[in-house]
Amino acid sequence: MGINRQGFKYLPKVYKSPSLIVPCFQVKGTYTMSEVVLIRSLAFEKMKDAGIKAICFDKDNVLTAPYVSELYPSLKNAWEECQQVFKDKIAILSNSAGSMDDIGYKAASAAERSLKVPVIRHRLKKPDNGILIIRHFQVPPQKIVVVGDRLFTDILMGNMDEMLTIHTQPLTAKGEELSIRYMRKFENTLLQYITTKYPPSQAPPHPFYRPSFIRTPMNV
Ligand SMILES: [Mg+2]
Repeated sequence: MGINRQGFKYLPKVYKSPSLIVPCFQVKGTYTMSEVVLIRSLAFEKMKDAGIKAICFDKDNVLTAPYVSELYPSLKNAWEECQQVFKDKIAILSNSAGSMDDIGYKAASAAERSLKVPVIRHRLKKPDNGILIIRHFQVPPQKIVVVGDRLFTDILMGNMDEMLTIHTQPLTAKGEELSIRYMRKFENTLLQYITTKYPPSQAPPHPFYRPSFIRTPMNV
């Protein structure tokens, strides 16, 4: 379950175009218990004002702890704000809830009840199913933001399908499979390498990229 073969199949493609796994934005947590930043750093209102129409989140370690249905407590305000701004144009695409591993879609239904947004059902795992997000929202991919904590699933999918990609730090190591932890380490090391080696790769250029989408002391 943990090792994502769909992601591995894209290694040759990423080797040719390394920018495919470079997120348009990276949101760093501070790694202290009291001050986890993550989706709280996203300026949802600014995105909407700039023309972004919809936002799709990964679930595990972005909105909830891994394999948990309830929102991570410190994200309550950010999640409410997101819902106020994007209303019915929010969805979740997860490689656990709503996937073929989710028997009877029990985890998807539980997450929908708890988070109050649709969880897209799918048979192929990310990064192969960006088209499902586009179909779900019925808006051009350039006007969709994808938020996820994994480079070879969330970010690769978003970049391949021309969505705006935001990479968040994982919420917690608790409950996360060991294989996922190793993959994350591999992905982050690779990202570090390809964004610093000569010539460094940058995220694919995106028409809706605005620095103001991330709250920093500079652009609050
Ligand atoms: Mg995740």
